[in-house]
Amino acid sequence: MNTSSSGAPRSGGHVEPAAIQDLVAANRILADQGVLDGYGHVSIRHPSAPNRYFLSRSLAPAIITADDIMEYDLDSNPVDQAGRLMYLERFIHGEIYKARPDVQAVVHSHSPTVIPFGVTTVKLRPIFHMSAFLGHNVPNFEIRDTAGMTDLLIREPKLGHALAHTLGDHPVALMRGHGNVCVGPNIMVAVYRAVYTEVNARLQAQAIALGGPITFLDPRECDAITNRKETNVQRPWQMWKSRVL
Ligand SMILES: [Zn+2]
Repeated sequence: MNTSSSGAPRSGGHVEPAAIQDLVAANRILADQGVLDGYGHVSIRHPSAPNRYFLSRSLAPAIITADDIMEYDLDSNPVDQAGRLMYLERFIHGEIYKARPDVQAVVHSHSPTVIPFGVTTVKLRPIFHMSAFLGHNVPNFEIRDTAGMTDLLIREPKLGHALAHTLGDHPVALMRGHGNVCVGPNIMVAVYRAVYTEVNARLQAQAIALGGPITFLDPRECDAITNRKETNVQRPWQMWKSRVL
């Protein structure tokens, strides 16, 4: 049974408070790091029910608490809305979880330095080792291809589905004139990728301003870095978390 007598989806069941606390921390970290402002959101897949996910009610990320976290099914219907306002763009999360069984966390941001790379012919490319995960083909979602002239928001499942299709098996996709999505196998990696996508964009813009040819990471360097076993995302995660909780 996937729905209750009220027609709302059933809960995926118990979740450890630590998982919800990490989701709260992720929201605050990304606000603290300048990736999220009053807008944007972070979700995690339900750790023991892959067809459910957790996302805050519609609220600025910097002030979210555990009580604000809501559970959704992958069509982005709330298990128990309880009168709370929901993010218009929650379909980004549900549709990516449908398309990507490997993804356990999703960040959608409007992180500002990334925007120019979605609206010009300059491709976002990995400029230093911390952003090797970007690889050499960061896809760019063009909402006009699916829906023509819109307000650019992912307001319905069809648009979330199209965005997930553009993301494909990549860790990051730009959204032309809007923002980006970063995904990961856990919340720490998704947050790390969102932070360093913004940092890479800043460094790349600085390198372009200095002029002359730019030596980006070679795809083989990207592979050597991303295939390392000892990559320690715990270290920045603990530091970022200590600043916000
Ligand atoms: Zn947005």
